[in-house]
Amino acid sequence: MEMAAWGNAVLGGVLGLLIGSFLNVVIYRLPKMLERQWAQEIQAAQTPAGDSNAAPADAAAQEPFNLMVPRSRCPSCGHMVQWYENIPVLSYLFLRGRCSACKAPIGIRYPLVELATGALFFFCVQRWGLTPTAAAWCGFSAALVALALIDWDTTLLPDDITLPLLWAGLLAAALQWTQVPLQDSVLGAAAGYLSLWLVYWGFKLATGKEGMGYGDFKLFAALGAWFGWPALVPIILMASVIGAVIGIAMKLRSSLREGGYVPFGPFLVGAGFTAMIFGPHAILGTVLGLLGL
Ligand SMILES: [Zn+2]
Repeated sequence: MEMAAWGNAVLGGVLGLLIGSFLNVVIYRLPKMLERQWAQEIQAAQTPAGDSNAAPADAAAQEPFNLMVPRSRCPSCGHMVQWYENIPVLSYLFLRGRCSACKAPIGIRYPLVELATGALFFFCVQRWGLTPTAAAWCGFSAALVALALIDWDTTLLPDDITLPLLWAGLLAAALQWTQVPLQDSVLGAAAGYLSLWLVYWGFKLATGKEGMGYGDFKLFAALGAWFGWPALVPIILMASVIGAVIGIAMKLRSSLREGGYVPFGPFLVGAGFTAMIFGPHAILGTVLGLLGL
């Protein structure tokens, strides 16, 4: 590979580190923003129309809280994070993983999210060069990183990410950025949603339990849009294998949370990244090999 191409890949990686820093904010704040929104909607529904004497909404809920405002603070002491304490990975190393004011430890996950996003962007630019294809897969990667961790933390896969991801996959196919025929992409989105919807209802009717949520259908539909319908079976097999391995490992370490629920989204994301890096068809052989078939 030429020097210039490596230079571009490194620049892509640096951009990924910065986007990863933003994803940390999204992962932390988006679920809280949705909770606030739901609380406000419930309150609005419970307040009779035209009742001007209704109790004022909780003052804290009125303060703006979004991805930009307020500035990040240390959750332990409220110290405002300065720009030089917010440089991806480097600040974590420089601060030795502690708040500069109160020395409370900063989660190792923050630099890991930045590093993972940087590595994914590096991969995309190294593979596809400075092209719309690389940009599309960088966007795909960023969305998947956020979805995996939000689902892991909260068991939510927000529509604000899954639905744009689905549309972006269809659009990327229409513009021929993903080398997936548009027809395969549209069928992939529809079949992805319907297949998990059927599994959900089958499981619910048979056992009375809910094995997954609607967010999983939308994420699988999005993966169908990005990789086309022929990739759906390899992806779901891969996700199930990853899920089974991690589920058993967590059970052995008895680190399952209450109710033994393990969100499925992170495993779909793992399969999505495997498909992006190795191609959706290469993973089928790997999965069958792992299963000893
Ligand atoms: Zn602090």
